Amino acid sequence: MEQTLSIIKPDAVKKGVIGKIIDRFESNNLRIAAIKKLQLTQCDAQSFYAIHKDRPFFKDLVDFMISGPVVVMVLEGQNAVAKNRELMGATNPKEAAAGTIRADFADSIDANAVHGSDSLENAKNEIAFFFGTREIC
Ligand code: ADP
Ligand code: MG
Repeated sequence: MEQTLSIIKPDAVKKGVIGKIIDRFESNNLRIAAIKKLQLTQCDAQSFYAIHKDRPFFKDLVDFMISGPVVVMVLEGQNAVAKNRELMGATNPKEAAAGTIRADFADSIDANAVHGSDSLENAKNEIAFFFGTREIC
């Protein structure tokens, strides 16, 4: 059993597809172990994406992530990290496989609907960034 962090990004929250995205997880044996909706601060977004701080798209990424509320979740299940990445599809929605969340709900590489941890180690850190242990059931 693994846990991974998922974020429904501001574009998907604005479109009103929170429920449709959560359905993808629940229909594929990923249980919602924790969930909350919040508005990230600039400081939150810069810290969360610190790994990308030297990339040319960093400022746009931070600005986008604070452009509206997000929904943050802990997903739990067998191979949760890889399964979530598979359900999400490629970073660029134009390259995302048919039927993936990004193919169905994302508009561009900037506004790409969801975040998902890319390794078990990053998942642990990202979960701890957003949730206390008592918030994860
Ligand atoms: P992923 O979200 O698929 O794990 P990355 O961790 O590589 O992708 O990048 C984090 C986020 O930064 C992406 O989801 C996307 O919103 C943004 N991003 C990545 N690459 C680019 C790019 N070349 N141009 C603009 N935004 C990008
Ligand atoms: Mg990533």
